[in-house]
Amino acid sequence: METQKQLRAALLSSPGPGHLIPVLELGKRLVTDHGFEVTIFVLPLKASRAEAEIIESAMTPKLLNIVELPPPDLSVVALSPNATTVTRLAVMMRETRPAFRSALAAMEAKPDVLIVDLFGTEHLCIGDELGIPKYVYIATNAWFLALLLHSPTLDKEVKGEYVDQTEPFNIPGCKPVRPEDVVDPMLDRSDQQYREYLRMASEIPMGDGILLNVWEDLQVETLAALRNKEFLGSVANGPIYTIGPLIRPVRPAGLEKELLEWLDKQPSESVLFVSFGSGGTLPAEQLVELAWGLELSGQRFIWVLRKPTTKSLDGSFFDVGKVGRGDELLSFLPDGFAMRTCDIGITLPSWAPQVDILSHPSVGGFLSHCGWNSTLESIVNGVPMIAWPLYAEQRLNATLLVEEIGVAIRPKELPSKKIVGREEIERMVRLIMVEKEGQAIRARVKELKSSTENAMTKRGTSYESLRKMKEDCKLRIHQINKAH
Ligand code: UDP
Repeated sequence: METQKQLRAALLSSPGPGHLIPVLELGKRLVTDHGFEVTIFVLPLKASRAEAEIIESAMTPKLLNIVELPPPDLSVVALSPNATTVTRLAVMMRETRPAFRSALAAMEAKPDVLIVDLFGTEHLCIGDELGIPKYVYIATNAWFLALLLHSPTLDKEVKGEYVDQTEPFNIPGCKPVRPEDVVDPMLDRSDQQYREYLRMASEIPMGDGILLNVWEDLQVETLAALRNKEFLGSVANGPIYTIGPLIRPVRPAGLEKELLEWLDKQPSESVLFVSFGSGGTLPAEQLVELAWGLELSGQRFIWVLRKPTTKSLDGSFFDVGKVGRGDELLSFLPDGFAMRTCDIGITLPSWAPQVDILSHPSVGGFLSHCGWNSTLESIVNGVPMIAWPLYAEQRLNATLLVEEIGVAIRPKELPSKKIVGREEIERMVRLIMVEKEGQAIRARVKELKSSTENAMTKRGTSYESLRKMKEDCKLRIHQINKAH
């Protein structure tokens, strides 16, 4: 018999705003639309300002139980000081397993279902220990998932480094992936992050299903390939639930008075928002070119400014939201930039209320690193993009947005490889903000905006997909209980 009691879900989020936000939003949906009771286990990065703010706003109104796990003891792990972000996250999540087990055991009642994100796949075994169904939430898109699930096969077939290959990689039933678009962990096969990535790929099918932060209409063919047993369906080994776009809601007082007043004064869709996610940092020379490009374009802008990086392009990931002094940041820009652009532009240090800015009617373009949350936030607000991929799976996302979905333009060469010059930036900004070609892209993103609205309404595809996941989950609970 079907159990009628309220289902209790335990969700585990890996650190970083880009991981935390979609997990919190999934938790809220499970509560408000599908009657779950949800506890979210989080592992904040040194309780960064950004994450504290994200958790706080997700708690108003209080729909979720949030449990902060103790920081894992990394002194016992031989983590190289040069370890990449992916390796660090994978190790942190692994080392947090005992604490997660204890926290689950300390819950008043055992959860009925476990949902982990990509970096949490090593915790799926806890679902088995507890005798409950378990799911993996891949909070990005279907093409990324297809590449990930196909990577163990590529690992066997491809000789040498992926980036040195001359032909795109075929993924059954999907758009092929160009060697330069592979995800960061595939850049160097001898690095620990590659081994962690392959491990995650092989663990995902151990779950009872996969949740994706997309909606059915966005990636029809790729989703079909992921579900087709002759293509990737046999690897995925379970249902794929499309439950997105789940993004942070706009907050009633999200914008500070001064910024709101400035935005209110600008013409409709006239402001370009420039931001590189939680981790993105640019080399000093690129900051200067970007500043010149914005100035030369003559277009209005809001730019979230960070200190330049001397090392990796995801340099601020582990201290996201740490604010440098505004005047110190301006010293990295061309002399007189702030004065010359004061009528058309605003720079904000380090971290900004992105969703609130993107949803303002004066914002009409987004120069973005193409993190998946940022991408969804742009589409949901009908804002066309200039794709500026830097790290993680962003090169793949950029290609998807430009070549398949049609909501973005991008520089001729990857910004992670070559400095993009001021003339090209000027040209791209003008194209997206004022030129005819840009209008076609704007029309396309508006179409998609309404397709997101349809998907998210009651009885829309994403609503129904999460409802189906709940039904399947009840069935699994029944099967597991019967087997015991
Ligand atoms: N974000 C924000 N303010 C900032 C930078 C980022 O609110 O100044 C939010 C952004 O709205 C998004 C998330 O942080 O929801 C970043 O996630 P994304 O997947 O775009 O990129 P990541 O930071 O994971 O690379």
